[in-house]
Order: sequence, then C-alpha cells, then structure tokens
Amino acid sequence: MEYRRLGKSGLQVSALSFGSWLTFGNQIDDQTAEELMVKAYDSGINFFDNAEGYAAGKSEIVMGNILHKLNWSRDTFIVSSKVFWGGSKPNQTGLSRKHVIEACYAALKRLQVDYLDLYFCHRPDPNTPIEETVRAMSDLVHQGKILYWGTSEWAAEEIEQAYQIAEKYFLVPPTMEQPQYNLFHRYRFETEYKNLYSKGLGTTIWSPLASGLLTGKYNEGNITDTRAELPKMDWLKDLLVGAGAQAKIPIVKKLDELAKSLETTLPIFAIAWCLKNPNVSTVILGASKLWQLEENMKALPLMGKLDNLVMKEIERIFDEVE
Ligand code: NDP
Repeated sequence: MEYRRLGKSGLQVSALSFGSWLTFGNQIDDQTAEELMVKAYDSGINFFDNAEGYAAGKSEIVMGNILHKLNWSRDTFIVSSKVFWGGSKPNQTGLSRKHVIEACYAALKRLQVDYLDLYFCHRPDPNTPIEETVRAMSDLVHQGKILYWGTSEWAAEEIEQAYQIAEKYFLVPPTMEQPQYNLFHRYRFETEYKNLYSKGLGTTIWSPLASGLLTGKYNEGNITDTRAELPKMDWLKDLLVGAGAQAKIPIVKKLDELAKSLETTLPIFAIAWCLKNPNVSTVILGASKLWQLEENMKALPLMGKLDNLVMKEIERIFDEVE
C-alpha cells in the first residue's frame, strides 16, 4: 500500500481507502461488510469512510460493531463521519452549530469510538453562516472529539471563506475536501479547486468508478445484482442506464479497449487514473462483493503504466466521442 499525506497535514492516509455508502446496513449483510473491512485492512487500507446519512445511521452502526469486534489498535485506522443528512426534523439536518455537534456525538456512539479522525460537512448549507460551522468544527477539535474537519462538495469559494474565517478568528481551518472525481467528473477537482491545493487542501475522492458505470457492466443496460436495483434509487438507476448514461457508453467501450491493451480491466484502469493525480490524497473505493475490492486494489501497481502516451490517448477518446 502507498500512504499519502492528507494535504499539508501530517496524517498519512492509504492511497486507497474504503467507504460504506449504499452497502453497509443496506445492500450487503453484516458478515460481508466485515469480510470487506478485514480484506481492506489486511491489504494496508487505513481509512474507512462513513456518514450519518448512510442507511440512516445503520451504516455507522454496522461499521462500529465491526470495529468493536475486530478490536484493531486505534492508532492503525482512520474513521470518518459526515454531517448534513441526519433526519427529517428541522435541527436534524444542515450545518448549524446544534446539528454539527449533536451529529458528531451520535456518530461517536454508533461507531463506538472516542473520537473521529475526519469529520466532513457533507454538503454546503446555505441557511447557516459559514462562520457558525467553522466555529462548531473548531470547538469539536478543541474538545478532542474530532482530529481534522473538512467539507464535501463545497464550492472553491466556500472553502476559501472557511479558510479566511479560520485565519481571522484563530479557528481550526478545514484540512480536506471530499469531491466526486472520476474520468467522467473532472471539472471541480481539476479546475475549480486548482488554487486550493497549493494552500494544502487534502482530498478524499468519491465514486472513482462513477458508481459502477466505469466498469462497463452497464453497457447493455443490465442492472441485475447491482446498486441500481436498490429501492428508492431511481435517480441512480437513471445515471447508470438512463439517457445520460447512453451518451457515455461509447466512451466506456473505448476506455475498456485501452485498458485491455494494457492487460488490465476497466475498473482497475479507471481507479489507477484517479490515483495518478498528485492532488488526490486517497481514492475511496466502494464494493458490494469481496472480489470487487480484490480487483480494485490492483490499481496501485497499474499506476506506473499510465504514461504520457496512455494519458493522451484517454484525452483523445473523450475528444473524439464528445
Ligand atoms: P464507486 O464509483 O467505485 O462504485 C462502487 C460500486 O461499483 C460498488 O459498490 C459496486 O456496486 C461496483 N463495483 C466496484 N468494483 C467493481 C468491479 N471491479 N466490477 C464491477 N463492479 C464494481 O464508488 P462509490 O460510489 O461506492 O463511492 C465510494 C465511497 O465514496 C462511498 O462508499 C462513500 O464512502 C464515498 N462517497 C461519498 C460521497 C459524498 O457525497 N461525500 C458520495 C458518494 C460516495 P454494485 O453493488 O452495483 O456492483
């Protein structure tokens, strides 16, 4: 495993990490969740990503039970939670001081840990002044309840504001952002955030396979035994086999050919492409089956094969098809 520093912080995070969105407490049983975590940890993955909103808290309960059972030394793993989608009542959502602090305490209980290593604002909250959120996060750091805080899918301008507020009032600034980043979703990570990396922003990127689209398995529109079959996931199904996906399938097919020419598979290739970007601190993998995680972890050794010629060929494929 390769370890990277989370931005300018001293924290070393495995270049591949493991997340539980849609899977833990939902798509997979607890035994499979445990097998996946054991496989990840034994392979050197040290960061496990979670959120209060995942399976309405059940994902954190499942992960907490596994952490408790396996009893790994606390200094060998990093665990996160995210605050924003906690419930349907007014103060169960968003980034008010009340919800940021209550959600943290609740996540600590569900995950059965004394502190969270990483705590993210899962989305920006237009109804709460950024200063209120920065103060709440800063207080949680001072209380020892969280070690680092960050954002997810905030605009660059909002992250800048958080930095400025922290500097002005001697508060703890954000350490990392969690954006979507994959071959189909590049603008925010590569362009909008560009100036933030030199200031030391770390990144824990999500959906490196665009939820599975970049595996090629949706090329024929078959969704059997995938997350697209989950109830209340029509928006995701649409993303994977709807009209938008159809426009992407020709690119997926060409990328698949390119992956084959390197004697690898498309998922491994797509994840290696994310890893190759030096502004990526860690690529959060998702998997509903053990074989998927085993396959995806082969991305690290492939990185070296993505030379300039291959990278140019990727750009050519996008230019040609789009
Ligand atoms: P991916 O885009 O990598 O999708 C993972 C899914 O793709 C798997 O669960 C599986 O789904 C399928 N898959 C994975 N590997 C393979 C393979 N080799 N062959 C075929 N299919 C495969 O990542 P996620 O969307 O799951 O995101 C990863 C993590 O990022 C999440 O768990 C979460 O921690 C974080 N995240 C954060 C968000 C945020 O807003 N901050 C938003 C979304 C995710 P299937 O069961 O369908 O086969």
